[in-house]
Amino acid sequence: MSENAKELKEKLMMKERKGAADYSADLLKEADAYCEGYKTFLDNSRTEREAVSYVKALAEKEGFTPFEPDKKYQPGDRVYIVNREKAIGLAVIGKSGTDHGVKLAIAHIDSPRIDLKPNPLYESNGLALFKTHYYGGIKKYQWTTVPLALHGRVVKLDGSVVDIRIGDDPKDECFLITDLLPHLDKEMATKTMSKAFTGEDLNILIGSLPFDDSDEKDLIALNVMKILNDRFGIEESDFLSAELNFCPAYPTRDVGFDRSMIGGYGHDDKCCAYPSVTALFETKIPESTCITYLTDKEETGSDGNTGMQSDFLRYFIYDLAKVDGNEGYRVLSKSKCLSADVNAAFDPTFSSAYEPKNCSFINEGVVISKYTGHGGKYDTSDASAEFMGEIRAMLAKNNVKWQVGELGKVDIGGGGTIAKYVANMNVDVVDLGIPVLCMHAPFEVISKADIYMAHKAFYGLFN
Ligand code: MN
Ligand code: MN
Repeated sequence: MSENAKELKEKLMMKERKGAADYSADLLKEADAYCEGYKTFLDNSRTEREAVSYVKALAEKEGFTPFEPDKKYQPGDRVYIVNREKAIGLAVIGKSGTDHGVKLAIAHIDSPRIDLKPNPLYESNGLALFKTHYYGGIKKYQWTTVPLALHGRVVKLDGSVVDIRIGDDPKDECFLITDLLPHLDKEMATKTMSKAFTGEDLNILIGSLPFDDSDEKDLIALNVMKILNDRFGIEESDFLSAELNFCPAYPTRDVGFDRSMIGGYGHDDKCCAYPSVTALFETKIPESTCITYLTDKEETGSDGNTGMQSDFLRYFIYDLAKVDGNEGYRVLSKSKCLSADVNAAFDPTFSSAYEPKNCSFINEGVVISKYTGHGGKYDTSDASAEFMGEIRAMLAKNNVKWQVGELGKVDIGGGGTIAKYVANMNVDVVDLGIPVLCMHAPFEVISKADIYMAHKAFYGLFN
């Protein structure tokens, strides 16, 4: 290459990817320390309810108090608001309040899992099992023969509430979905992946001992119910008013000889929820009011009163606007949001699914997805050039390493986030999150440096 071409290339062309080589040893150390808090959060936030209660407790320690709608807050005041125990908003009041719009970071705290059906309990050929209906997009075979823990809540007929959490402690019992042995799966092996394992096959093994040796039917199911009754005071009909979820029963762990990555259940999207929370905690007296909102139901389409399509966040912003003497809709129209959600990290084993110039890589920093959706840009809000320019400048100013990411090749699949629902409120929004390997599997992988970059990115947005 001539000297001129080299100089010109440096000046005009994109730099080559360098992965973690861009990070100093000190930064990697900081990232490692930061991730200890994240791992504890993830282990204590299997479900959206658990995530809300964990974040609420953290926020109270950081000086956040329950939001009072008609109270005039001062710059630097810290408030939180909880929606039905499944979504939480945290705000730090800014010097100019809502006058110039608010700054938003929004992540979801629900993750794919296995939910119980309303009538789950049955017995067949010497075993007791639960019928389930999976939650979110899963590759069903990945969830078989994995130890599962039971998390959730039962509301009894008298209105009393029982919270259940069994299986996380290695000394606890655990549960699993069975699978056929390779010796007998000749017929199964000829089927396509989606037909080899169907939703009705996701039955959970829960017991094998009968209550006694009488001639009554279904004594194994009865024995399971007796154990549950002794422990939690519930009877079979109480399943009718319950939310019981099966999640992987193992803790979050470091991955790789160099311990540069973290494996765990539910990175999507708690690996974005956590940095949006910690970045707000570090925000003292911002210019505009800053809000981190953690929402539910993203994995099933964001519907429902705790999902992003609900008016809950809108009304919270309206309340903040009202005491400032502003119209809520005007505040929204001036607001900026980072929709904090994960994207698919390039996997060299399945490289044909990705378009390497426009997908995200582990250790390349946070990933910005200008648009999500699928073939022909359906179902996306697609951030404007202006807003992309603004966020790009913000990231450069805050020394945040970042990359762009499309979700795989055009026409090969696709997916959505909450961004379009925020955009529909007339807010400027773009997706900024973390690349994940094995997304939606019972054990997903992210890089420590990337989640630390996300913390810096959200801090940059707020400050
Ligand atoms: Mn997600
Ligand atoms: Mn997801």
